[in-house]
Amino acid sequence: MESIAEGLRGTADPLGVHKGFAAVGCAHRFVRMSACRICGGNLTEYVDFGRQPLSDAFVKPDQTENEFFFRLAVAMCEACTMVQLVEEVPRDRMFHHDYPYQSSGSSVMRKHFELVAHRFLDSELTSDDPFIVEIGSNDGIMLKAVSDAGIKHLGVEPSGAVGEMARSKGVRVRTAFFEESTATEIAESEGHADVIYAANTICHIPYLDSIFRGVDALLKPGGVFVFEDPYFGDIVEKTSFDQIYDEHFYLFTARSVRAMAQRFGFDLVDVERLPVHGGEVRYSISRQGERTPTAAVAALLAEEDERRLAEPATVEAFGASVRKIRDDLVALLTKLKEEGRTVAAYGATAKSATVANYCGLGPELVSYVSDTTPAKQHRLTPGSHIPVYPPEVFRENYPEYALLFAWNHADEIMANEQGFRDAGGKWILYVPEVRVV
Ligand SMILES: [Zn+2]
Repeated sequence: MESIAEGLRGTADPLGVHKGFAAVGCAHRFVRMSACRICGGNLTEYVDFGRQPLSDAFVKPDQTENEFFFRLAVAMCEACTMVQLVEEVPRDRMFHHDYPYQSSGSSVMRKHFELVAHRFLDSELTSDDPFIVEIGSNDGIMLKAVSDAGIKHLGVEPSGAVGEMARSKGVRVRTAFFEESTATEIAESEGHADVIYAANTICHIPYLDSIFRGVDALLKPGGVFVFEDPYFGDIVEKTSFDQIYDEHFYLFTARSVRAMAQRFGFDLVDVERLPVHGGEVRYSISRQGERTPTAAVAALLAEEDERRLAEPATVEAFGASVRKIRDDLVALLTKLKEEGRTVAAYGATAKSATVANYCGLGPELVSYVSDTTPAKQHRLTPGSHIPVYPPEVFRENYPEYALLFAWNHADEIMANEQGFRDAGGKWILYVPEVRVV
């Protein structure tokens, strides 16, 4: 296999791309894996995105000197088929006090999490003393509805600033990383939970052994552990390679999640495909023998087999599609630049870091990124150093083209920005292929 980042930004993998690469490197900066983080099986590497920054590390214009970089590459375990990154970024570097992502930023997501809360309230939180714990509760978007219903709850959230926002909505939050010791302590001080829930969090956590032991310590008999994360099946289908970035350490399938659950004494008992964030699956897990797996589990496993999702040829073909998108996008933006067109980007998302850095995009091709998050504005995108401006800049002087980094919110954004279209503006999309609309 070739290194697909080669040639564009000189980001070729110095270790070569092959399985069983040495576990070397600076332990204080990152951990480089040579074995599966779940089962210890051999890893085979398939896609190399080269040198990448922390996806949420927006830098001040005068602070571009000391950016943290790591090698972003995707491997699959030959034994349990878990798809995972080959380098682990220390968690404190990503999920620090000022972690900028806020779940409540999108009205679609607010609705999504309200529905989640009401489903738990209706069908899982009906015991005499119901208790729900959320791992990575962010700004309290889901737990607020539980709190409003007067149900005992606790969010466990390492990032202080978003935790504070949750508290201001009446949500109870513990500022901590969820792990075995935290879970044991919560069980002792607050009792056991009927439901442990996590959205866009479990795939962030390399040390899932500690998470599963923690869930086992905290969950009531008959309780359920529910988590939803980007689905590798959707990533392959749409070639949505920008779902691959520092925070997304694992890219789950039903098959790999079931293998992982069984390894820790649990069973995968339900799955549900979700349209959010470009395609996710909600996995429900309970202790072995406590619940009967639904037909949806068997159906998704069969679909994955049919698609040969866990086979090397499929993952290699995904890598080839990723390279094509990169080449097409760079060719389009270069052509627009040569024609003297104005091009900005829309949505300084975490996942846009992968696109910008892998494709070598900088301010010479994309003059700025429009984003509503104040903490990102008047900073530069990580690694690629494209300035981030508030939406007023975009609206006061529309560019001719807007590269839609937040493509997973395309419908919502295009509706909100009808003025851009009315002014003759065109959107550039790159998932599942590069196109102008
Ligand atoms: Zn494995």
